[in-house]
Amino acid sequence: MNLQSKLPHVGTTIFSKMSALAQQHGALNLAQGFPDYETDPYLIELVNRYMKDGFNQYAFMSGVLPLRERIAEKVWNTHQVRVDIQDEITVTAGGTQAIFTAIATVVEKGDEVLIFEPAYDCYAPTVELFGGRVVPVALLAPDFSIDWEYVKSLVNEKTKLIIINNPNNPTGKRLGKEDINALAAIVTSSHTFVLSDEVYEHIVFDGHQPYSLLAHPILRERSFVIASFGKLLHVTGWKVGYCIAPPVLTKEFRKIHQYTVFSVHTAVQMAIAEYLENPEIYLSLGDFFEEKRNYLIEGIQSSKFTVLPSQGTYFLNIDYAAISDEPELLFAERLIVEKKIALIPISAFYTENLNQHILRVCFAKKAETLVQAVDLLNNI
Ligand code: GLN
Repeated sequence: MNLQSKLPHVGTTIFSKMSALAQQHGALNLAQGFPDYETDPYLIELVNRYMKDGFNQYAFMSGVLPLRERIAEKVWNTHQVRVDIQDEITVTAGGTQAIFTAIATVVEKGDEVLIFEPAYDCYAPTVELFGGRVVPVALLAPDFSIDWEYVKSLVNEKTKLIIINNPNNPTGKRLGKEDINALAAIVTSSHTFVLSDEVYEHIVFDGHQPYSLLAHPILRERSFVIASFGKLLHVTGWKVGYCIAPPVLTKEFRKIHQYTVFSVHTAVQMAIAEYLENPEIYLSLGDFFEEKRNYLIEGIQSSKFTVLPSQGTYFLNIDYAAISDEPELLFAERLIVEKKIALIPISAFYTENLNQHILRVCFAKKAETLVQAVDLLNNI
């Protein structure tokens, strides 16, 4: 049987590829973004307890009530914004499913979708799956700043959606107030929706506070804001996240959500709701990762790599121009085989094959792993 592929250009994700190669060659894996330290035993105990207490059947399609209440409380504590627990919050099977569903909700055949690159890998294929056309806006190292006049020139009546990711994976960049205001000025007189991927929302450094589009009255009205408990609670394998959007958007979002996922793991939702009674869990996340970022930056200061700024997320980018001229993918593959360390080439996040000599390092790792990483990077 022959099947015409709906996504002929899509292969295996760079994250799976590099993780597999790392395993094959016994390399230290700082490629795929996931923590290698233990999950808080108390959180695991809570999941067990809710399972034993019988929370094992379908949850509400939109998420268990205690978790939606806790999410609303978190949004209030973090951004002083009220969100409606009935009509605006939907618990999803991870950030990626929320992104998929938000794109499915708005994108129709022939629509244009603006994506800033380097971009997380799931955006473009999902847009294409629903017949949309991706309009990439390439941002370049070292500061990846956005030329908003150029963005404005790309927006027309076909522009259905703009996707932003703040703070950004892989660049570690936070959008400033000017960026947010420029975005608002562009979309305010258009029919364009915004998808704000905020899965690293609480991981911001150097005294900055988390920022959400929910705090912007114009953007809040037309945005799907997406978050991830995998990142927040160091449990990427649990695949629980949520989407906050105004009632009209949420209503349509849920029509798709109910037929793809329907509802998310009940005991895990209950456990997260109880665990987050302590707001310190999210309020201290930036400090937790800032210490790891600083350790890594200081550790490789006298290596041959040049460190790029990381204002948020658990990623740091390093420039290897002083070591090699090789394209990023080849260089990254050689590092795995010869130097036993796996990193991600940021060219994988662009449509055009750029070579900026930059690799992404994930520092969501335990102290011993970071010690090893520093050692290996200093010997390259
Ligand atoms: N979000 C993770 C990263 O950026 C990868 C998740 C995945 O492997 N699909 O590394």
